[in-house]
Amino acid sequence: MTAYSKHYNAIVVGIGAMGSATCYQLARRNKRVLGLERFDIPHDLGSSHGYTRIIRLAYYEHPSYVALLRRAYELWADIERTTGEQLLYRTGSLDCGPADSWVFKGSLQSCVEYDLPHEVLTGAQVSERYPGYRLPRENLAVFQPDGGFLVPERGTVAYVEAAHALGAEIHGREALLGWEPWGDAVRVFTDRDEYTADALVFTAGGWNQNVLPFLRGLAVPERQVLAWLQPTRPELFRPERFPVFNCLVPEGRYYGFPVFAVPGFKFGRYHHFEETGEAETLSREAFREDEEVLRDFAARYFPDGAGPTMILKACLFTNTPDRHFLIDLHPDHPQVSFAAGFSGHGYKFASVIGEIMADLAERQATRHDVSLFNLARFTGQVSQLHQQKVDMLARGAWSPAAHGPEHPLYRHAGRGEVPGGALGRPHDRRRPPADGSQTVGGRWPAGGGHSSADPRYWTDADVKPFW
Ligand SMILES: Cc1cc2nc3c(=O)[nH]c(=O)nc-3n(C[C@H](O)[C@H](O)[C@H](O)COP(=O)(O)OP(=O)(O)OC[C@H]3O[C@@H](n4cnc5c(N)ncnc54)[C@H](O)[C@@H]3O)c2cc1C
Repeated sequence: MTAYSKHYNAIVVGIGAMGSATCYQLARRNKRVLGLERFDIPHDLGSSHGYTRIIRLAYYEHPSYVALLRRAYELWADIERTTGEQLLYRTGSLDCGPADSWVFKGSLQSCVEYDLPHEVLTGAQVSERYPGYRLPRENLAVFQPDGGFLVPERGTVAYVEAAHALGAEIHGREALLGWEPWGDAVRVFTDRDEYTADALVFTAGGWNQNVLPFLRGLAVPERQVLAWLQPTRPELFRPERFPVFNCLVPEGRYYGFPVFAVPGFKFGRYHHFEETGEAETLSREAFREDEEVLRDFAARYFPDGAGPTMILKACLFTNTPDRHFLIDLHPDHPQVSFAAGFSGHGYKFASVIGEIMADLAERQATRHDVSLFNLARFTGQVSQLHQQKVDMLARGAWSPAAHGPEHPLYRHAGRGEVPGGALGRPHDRRRPPADGSQTVGGRWPAGGGHSSADPRYWTDADVKPFW
């Protein structure tokens, strides 16, 4: 038997949150699938460990995530039914901040736009209802009852076991070292063997930029630290009395959970010390200065949760420049797809990302609107996936489900009520800078002639960054 007889319909690289769900979705479609994971399954060196991850429907980062979240909830329920294991715990979610803050206003906007059940509470009302909280009294909070948390290590195991049951082959402790196109298929080299496949899916988290060099600088690993503190009044921090939260305070943007699975009230600060680097070398240790900044926050806003430290853990975010995901086909090899740059808010989507990546591997297209996540917004390289959408928009054969005429791609096809003529925005907004430099919205072409339906010419005003 030659090495090349080891042929699969799809190879998935990285069996964390996204890769495990992708293997399951492919196996469900009767695909011959191989999953490759360089470490153990699960492990605590990537982005999917630490017992809990927030899931919420109210989405201040961008309302167009809500449609994907609805499907994510359905698919979490599906894998729970399949495995008989509870993976999602509903506590309700609170998104809090000053009345004019993007966290509060964005969350409220997503609730209004998608008709989600919600309540607006003042900080004082939050404390009355949930006495573990002592947020500034005049701050506002959106309470959304579908919010809660998922259990990431168990989630990975559930997807791997369900994929196994459907015949998937998954190898722990086997690292991909390289890959190359092989006709319309791919050839893959690992530290143990060689394989071929019709499709290759990269879900390599903080390591994606090592295996797909065009992601370097666009999916950047960042060290993140979490604390678990033993509450002095533990009854206030139980799941039934403590909704998960995102809150913006003068010290930064924080998120937290009730006590679950291990001792301690868990919380962290987004972009902790903004330490970026290589996934290989960023420290997974937690230090006294990490602990101090987290303890100060708890002492101020959750004083009954600020008892002795139980656990400190480091983990990796992988950030894009605008903090929106990167999900696309390889611009030159459409048999290769990638899901990268989840920027600290991806876990809740893992169930639906599995469905999207299985779609991309199977037919190089997806039923979901992933136009917000295209690669071209940074590199100017339009993949087959988005080229199709751009062509369909130009023919009037497609309109983005999320956001209608407000969607940046829609506006750029000239269908929105945007001043500037048939092509949407005034051309000078997209004219190449005289020095030939690049923009956040994409690379400017020599010569200047272009269609505004092309996501290369989206500007940073079209897909707003959030932090
Ligand atoms: C501290 C912290 C808190 C977070 N909180 C939330 C939250 O509350 N809610 C939320 O929705 N999201 C949250 N996130 C974000 C979320 O956890 C991540 O977006 C998500 O887990 C990323 O999953 P992934 O599959 O991309 O990466 P991972 O789960 O890290 O998987 C990537 C895998 O690829 C493997 N790999 C890499 N290179 C290779 C190779 N060459 N060969 C084989 N295997 C390889 C890695 O070993 C790894 O297992 C948080 C993240 C962190 C770090």
